[in-house]
Amino acid sequence: MQSQYFTSEHDLFRQSVRQFIEKEVVPNAETWETQRQIPISIFNLMGEMGYLGINYPEEYGGTNADFWYSVIFLEELARSTMGGFSTAVSVHQYMAVNHIAKIGSPFLKEKYLVPAINGTKVASLGISEPNAGSDVSAILSTAKREGDNYIINGSKNFISNGTYGDFITLACKTNTSAGANGVSLIVVDLNAEGVSRTKLNKMGWHSSDTAEIRFDNVSVPVQNLIGMENAGFYYLMESLQLERLVASVMAVSGSAHALELTLQYLHEREAFGRPIAKFQAIRHKIADLATEIDIAREFVYSTCWKHINGNIVVKECSMAKLFTSELSKRAMDTCLQFFGGYGYIEDYPICRMYRDARVGTIAGGTSEIMREIIGKIVVDGAAYKKVYRAENS
Ligand SMILES: Cc1cc2nc3c(=O)[nH]c(=O)nc-3n(C[C@H](O)[C@H](O)[C@H](O)COP(=O)(O)OP(=O)(O)OC[C@H]3O[C@@H](n4cnc5c(N)ncnc54)[C@H](O)[C@@H]3O)c2cc1C
Repeated sequence: MQSQYFTSEHDLFRQSVRQFIEKEVVPNAETWETQRQIPISIFNLMGEMGYLGINYPEEYGGTNADFWYSVIFLEELARSTMGGFSTAVSVHQYMAVNHIAKIGSPFLKEKYLVPAINGTKVASLGISEPNAGSDVSAILSTAKREGDNYIINGSKNFISNGTYGDFITLACKTNTSAGANGVSLIVVDLNAEGVSRTKLNKMGWHSSDTAEIRFDNVSVPVQNLIGMENAGFYYLMESLQLERLVASVMAVSGSAHALELTLQYLHEREAFGRPIAKFQAIRHKIADLATEIDIAREFVYSTCWKHINGNIVVKECSMAKLFTSELSKRAMDTCLQFFGGYGYIEDYPICRMYRDARVGTIAGGTSEIMREIIGKIVVDGAAYKKVYRAENS
């Protein structure tokens, strides 16, 4: 069907990413899930394919393509049936290096953006701490200026790409008495002296590598500051909209893929002498799910359109994240049910997809926090303004 958002060039790109995921990713799912991480070689390969700098400037190796290419890329990532893999790649491109791409100095772009785009360095984003997740302004990690360096101390928790990542976009306090107005973003090499990392054992997203990271007197040159000192909280609040949109795109696509796999099974599996696809109880549930997924996709696409066209989409991104992550949990549960006992067996991707969907309503801002943001806008009439904006993003 013709789309109001995608051109025939976009469709060709989708075909190429789909083939790549089917050939290079899906056959490795069991191995990567068991190894509890994806290999660095897949980042190298994706870098070579030009998949890691879709919206970034050509002078740094990116393709400078429009955001719809990213939407397609993310939708295809989600068809891998591995939330862990999708997270590792999307955090790298859309949550960690986007700050450097938008407001980083030419020095930072050369040193970190270029290798991130060509897939030779893996990036992570460090906001959450053992005692501060939803309340970002309450973070305790500090960066104290000493001559031409910052000395960093503190701990970060739940950091995706944390164990094998090469560098981190770190949120830390450069002014400890200014609350949200004292947060800065600083790039830290994760192999630097004083950094120690501990891998976390998770319920799902097994192929993503999640870590607790400690920083003990880690010395970082002041050139590693991203943008302005003490403006980090506002940079984060704005970029979290992109993070939530990215999560929403993947949640809808993952749910749609689960439905696709389930429909195939419903037609193959027989009970009481006919395919289970013929039972009305099942058909009605599938009809409800298909309706919700289609409506969610349209809302997410329209939010992407508004984002591309420079609108402030705090409300829409929060609504999209809230609705699609909750939908994904319901979708995986419904689909698994129709696989019967096989849905509970690891050989069937729906088993992993069910497990992986659970964290969607927690990571990147919980459902409760999404409701808080929406409530502030809808009930209190709160308004937001732009902090920064780059072309094509
Ligand atoms: C697998 C995984 C990967 C992650 N990757 C990253 C990463 O790469 N980088 C990173 O920085 N972080 C990452 N996170 C952290 C994630 O963003 C946080 O877990 C999330 O923001 C919630 O913070 P918290 O866990 O500290 O929960 P808390 O903030 O302690 O919240 C606990 C509960 O209280 C509720 N709550 C808190 N405040 C309110 C309120 N005002 N009103 C109502 N309810 C409230 C929450 O909704 C939640 O239910 C990851 C987490 C996971 C699990």
